[in-house]
Amino acid sequence: MPQDTPKLVIRNIGLMLSGKMEAAILDADCLIAIDGKITEIGMEKDMDTEGATTTIDANGTTLAPGLIDSHVHPVIGDYTPRQNQMNWIDSTLHGGVTTLISAGEVHMPGRPKDIIGLKAQAIAAQRWYENFRPSGMKVMAGAPIIEHGMVEQDFKDLADAGVKLLGEVGLGSVKDGPTGKKMVDWARKYGMQSTIHTGGPSIPGSGLIDAEVVLEVGADVIGHINGGHTALPDDQIICLCESCTKGLEIVHNGNERAALLTLNTARELKQLNRVILGTDGPAGSGVQPLGILRMVAMLSSLGNVPAEIAFCFATGNTSRQRELDTGIIEIGKAADFVLMDRAQHAPGKTILESVEFGNLPGVGMTIIDGVVTSERSRNTPPATALPTVI
Ligand SMILES: [Zn+2]
Repeated sequence: MPQDTPKLVIRNIGLMLSGKMEAAILDADCLIAIDGKITEIGMEKDMDTEGATTTIDANGTTLAPGLIDSHVHPVIGDYTPRQNQMNWIDSTLHGGVTTLISAGEVHMPGRPKDIIGLKAQAIAAQRWYENFRPSGMKVMAGAPIIEHGMVEQDFKDLADAGVKLLGEVGLGSVKDGPTGKKMVDWARKYGMQSTIHTGGPSIPGSGLIDAEVVLEVGADVIGHINGGHTALPDDQIICLCESCTKGLEIVHNGNERAALLTLNTARELKQLNRVILGTDGPAGSGVQPLGILRMVAMLSSLGNVPAEIAFCFATGNTSRQRELDTGIIEIGKAADFVLMDRAQHAPGKTILESVEFGNLPGVGMTIIDGVVTSERSRNTPPATALPTVI
């Protein structure tokens, strides 16, 4: 191995969560990543830990894939005009999140709604977050809001320019099923993923999208199925779960009762693998640095889901739904991790029990592409044990 190839060794891991629902806990205490990719997972005694450029003693804490927020509204850098707030992304990193997925850069003051303007903004947003990661955070952005008048060539132009996502269908002028379906199909043809606003209007200027429109449009992700904030009636939520196989995205800035209804319906259908989590921040509700951890704890405790499975909603499920190279502990995947432990004085003998009682874990470290991006969280309750860089 060349001298300058970064080799990360994380040893003394007390519990390793895979992000994969079918085998959520791995039998391993050590992990090696070379050049930002996972190369070995196993027991330290069987592994070649020599020549590490960075060694971390996990000190018995829990390693999980870095959490993914499937629904954010970034605008530029680490600033949100929505609440005039700086450093919300850095704060979110301290909540264990290592990847953010934009559902549209809708809070840009003066957001262009003409077609060339909206394309230009999407391409620029994709570039500025690719070129600059606030505090190391991976931000998948550049998610145009579709408007009436767009033609197939516009979607090809966006895809050719590197745009990979559509913002929430329904936040622009397209709120009807037939137009939405036509444009989502064009986006899919050119390799772009799509999501749709579900439920009542979120803020003045947005509108109602009901189950019939969601099903007709057929976007890849049913964005905030529990409303953002206003949820659809129960029968429509159940209908969405039963009538399609799309991603069921539950958000922090939504209706918590509707979140539990979605979870219970997905469980009855034996389709918990469709459940993915977002915050839908920044928004009228503010920013939620701990939003994803709060969703994991809420769904685990009130929804009776084993904590290791609830963590999959925020990691492996989203990874698979959105075809990412992060969110799963597997050889070849990105070395994006969160190290956590039971919060000090939280009830429960283990971190998993403490989450099942509805408590947040304490974050001790985040790592992105094999590089330490934060140490003890300034936002979570303090962890009982902390990892250290040796
Ligand atoms: Zn929305």
